[in-house]
Amino acid sequence: MARVALISYTKECELLVACAAKLCYSAKEISELKKDLTPNKIKNFIDMLTKLGHESPMEHASFTFGIEGVSRALLAQITRHRIASFSVQSQRYVSQGDGFSYVVPPEIERIKEAKDAFLKIMKECKKSYDNLSLILKENHLNKLILGGANANEAENIAQKAAIEDARFVLPNACKTKMICTFNARSLMNFFERRLCNRAQWEIRKLAFLMLKSVLEVAPNLFSRVGPACVCGSCKEGKMSCGKQEQMRELFSNLTKNLEISPAN
Ligand SMILES: Cc1cc2nc3c(=O)[nH]c(=O)nc-3n(C[C@H](O)[C@H](O)[C@H](O)COP(=O)(O)OP(=O)(O)OC[C@H]3O[C@@H](n4cnc5c(N)ncnc54)[C@H](O)[C@@H]3O)c2cc1C
Repeated sequence: MARVALISYTKECELLVACAAKLCYSAKEISELKKDLTPNKIKNFIDMLTKLGHESPMEHASFTFGIEGVSRALLAQITRHRIASFSVQSQRYVSQGDGFSYVVPPEIERIKEAKDAFLKIMKECKKSYDNLSLILKENHLNKLILGGANANEAENIAQKAAIEDARFVLPNACKTKMICTFNARSLMNFFERRLCNRAQWEIRKLAFLMLKSVLEVAPNLFSRVGPACVCGSCKEGKMSCGKQEQMRELFSNLTKNLEISPAN
């Protein structure tokens, strides 16, 4: 099960976005911008930016998530979002030797025969990983010792070199963890693509968890996000899920539907 924590975000993010927006249209000094920005005016500025598609002021607010318990398959997808920053646990430096953890897709979990086959493969992957790590390590170690390396140092280098190649047998299901930072504009783009019914189940679930956490701290910025069909029309063409009305209903009252009690 994916776990998401909003570990950091721009202080007074909505005020900052409103200030940046106001600056574009005001002759005021920068030091004066904050002065009469009441919560209502902040909301109006954010609404105006959304309506106009004037999205650059939203780039000043950023949100950092700690994400755990997701698969490497998800990692391949989330890191396609180029306007975000990622730090990911390394399979080069962190050994999976204690038995790697993996994500079991719900559909596989549901069907006993599929689950048995899946677990068997995971077990085999682990065995192959451990076996390869041992073979490679021994080989590296021998070379290093023959080359005159100190035993402790050689052990360390050989271990790292071994897992660097042994990891090639690890599956997409392998769990990973990351810290990622999105600015609000990039995050909205992420939500538009990944909250769609057509998005893959794991990243869609993650997108809902991320949305839930940012709605608690920036409800004006994120209360109108959703897949393309919610804000306009579906872009999936023939592949459309055809559930535009249900999606609109779900996203029309996000705070209620995601059981969120905004902090501000
Ligand atoms: C349902 C679904 C299916 C997908 N299937 C596939 C697939 O089969 N194969 C595959 O390879 N990918 C697939 N993707 C990934 C998809 O093509 C995008 O790479 C991913 O969603 C990131 O979106 P993005 O480029 O908008 O995000 P970001 O990289 O964060 O970019 C944000 C925005 O910045 C602009 N931008 C960023 N970089 C450039 C640039 N170099 N030039 C011009 N504008 C830029 C664009 O407007 C872009 O929308 C899929 C995505 C989804 C949601």
